[in-house]
Amino acid sequence: MTSAELRAAFLEFFRQRGHTIEPSSSLIPGNDPTLLFTNAGMVQYKDVFLGREHKGFTRAATSQRCVRAGGKHNDLENVGYTARHHTFFEMLGNFSFGDYFKKDAIHFAWEFLTQEMEIPPQKLWVTVFEEDSEAESIWLNDVGVDPKRFSRIGAKDNFWSMGDTGPCGPCSEIFYDHGESIPGGPPGSPDEEGDRYIEIWNLVFMQYDRAADGTLTPLPKPSVDTGMGLERIAAVSQGVHSNYEIDLFQKLLQAAAKLAGIDDLNQSSLRVIADHIRSCAFLVADGVLPSNEGRGYVLRRIIRRAIRHGYRLGIHDIFFYRLVAPLVEAMGDAYPELKNAQAQVERILKKEEERFAETLGQGMKILEACVAKLDGKVIPGDTVFQLYDTYGFPVDLTADFAREHDLSVDHEGFEAAMAAQRDRARSASHFGADYDQDIKLDIETEFCGYDHLADQSHIVALYAQGQ
Ligand code: ATP
Ligand code: MG
Ligand code: MG
Ligand code: MG
Repeated sequence: MTSAELRAAFLEFFRQRGHTIEPSSSLIPGNDPTLLFTNAGMVQYKDVFLGREHKGFTRAATSQRCVRAGGKHNDLENVGYTARHHTFFEMLGNFSFGDYFKKDAIHFAWEFLTQEMEIPPQKLWVTVFEEDSEAESIWLNDVGVDPKRFSRIGAKDNFWSMGDTGPCGPCSEIFYDHGESIPGGPPGSPDEEGDRYIEIWNLVFMQYDRAADGTLTPLPKPSVDTGMGLERIAAVSQGVHSNYEIDLFQKLLQAAAKLAGIDDLNQSSLRVIADHIRSCAFLVADGVLPSNEGRGYVLRRIIRRAIRHGYRLGIHDIFFYRLVAPLVEAMGDAYPELKNAQAQVERILKKEEERFAETLGQGMKILEACVAKLDGKVIPGDTVFQLYDTYGFPVDLTADFAREHDLSVDHEGFEAAMAAQRDRARSASHFGADYDQDIKLDIETEFCGYDHLADQSHIVALYAQGQ
C-alpha cells in the first residue's frame, strides 16, 4: 500500500469500529505551553483524558503530524543514523476516552495488522509491561500470540505517564521483524538496539491516577491511547527496511540528489535533508519562524543542519527551499495547510538560508582547519563557541560534523566560554555599553529553560499544576 492508502485504510478501519475521524492538530500544541511541539497523537486530547474537556464521542482516530526534535522526545541525533527515526513523522492513532480498554485495543491492533494488512503473525513480536498480567493473558490466551515471540519489559519503555502525577499506565508494543539479514535482537534482549526488530505500534493503557506520593489509584474510567508511525508501517507494507525507502521519501531524495548532482540515493546526508525539509516546512506552515528562542530556535537549528548537509554533498547554492515543491507534491493532498502555505514557506526558508550561507563557508573552513591539526578526539570548547557565536553554528551542528569524523565536542568547555561571555556582557552593561549580545544571550537563556521544562516529562505539567 502507498502511504496515502495506508493512512486512509487505518482511519477507515477505525471509523467502521465506531471511531470519529478527526484532523491532525497543529505542531504547536494549543493546550500546553510547556510542550515544545506536538509529539504524539494524544496531545490534542490531553484535556479529554483528564476529564476537563468533553467531546461528543468516546472513540477517535487520527493521523497526527508530529515533531520530535527537542524536549524529552528528541530524535534529531538519530536522523541519518537509524532506519526508523525522523524529526517529522505522522502518528496513526486510535483513542478511547473511558470507552473500551485493553481487550478491544489489543484485538483492534492485531486485526488491523494481521487481517487488514495481512502481515504474517510470525513476523510480529509483542511486548507488555512486566507487571501487566491482564494484557499478557489477552495476547497469549485470547489472541494466541506465540509465547516465543513475546516479552515482558520494564517501566522505562513500557510504562507511560502524563506527568509526575495524573493518568498513567502500562504499555504494550508491537514490533516487526525485518529478518535475519539485519543486526539486532528482539525487544528485551541484550542486543535489542539494532534495527532488525522495529517498533511499529504502542498501545498505552491509561489505568491509574498517580498521586504526589506515588500511590496509584485505579481510574474509574480507564482510557486508551495508541500510536503507530505511518512511515514505519509503510516500510513494512512496501517490503523495505528503512523508512527512507518508502514512497513518501522517493521524490524528496531524488530532488535533493538532483540539486547535489549525485546519483547515489543512499547517502546519509540526503536522508537528513529529506527528513529536515519535512519538519521545517510543516513547522513554518504551522506558524513557527526561525529565531533565537524556543520553538523558533529549534527550527533554526534544523534548517542550519540541513544546509550543512547540503554543503557536505557539495551544494553551494541556496537550495533547501527548492525542496518545498516536491514535498507539497508528496504530501499536499493529505495536508492542504501545507499546500496553502507553500509560497510563504519557500520565502522564509530561502531567507533563512541566505542569512546562514554568508557564514557557513567561513565556519566550515575554521572547523576543517581545526580538525586537521587536532591533537586528540575532542573539538575544543573555544572553537565550538567561536563557531556558534561568530558563524551561527548551533552546537548540535558542530557535534553532528564531529560525529561524522569520529570526534566529539567539548560541551563543558563550550558552556564555560558561553558563561564567560555572559559575564563580560553583564559587566559591560553595568557601564551602559551598547553590547548587542545582551539580547541574544537573554533569549538563549530563556530557550535553555524552556527546553529543560519540556524535558521533565512527556505531556507534562498542567495537570500537576491543577492539583
Ligand atoms: P523508538 O523506541 O523506536 O524510538 P518510541 O518508543 O520512542 O520509538 P513512541 O513514543 O512509543 O515511540 O511512539 C509511538 C510510535 O510512533 C512508535 O511505535 C513509532 O511507530 C512511531 N515513532 C516514534 N518516534 C518516531 C520517529 N522519530 N520517527 C518515526 N516514527 C516514530
Ligand atoms: Mg523514541
Ligand atoms: Mg520505543
Ligand atoms: Mg514506544
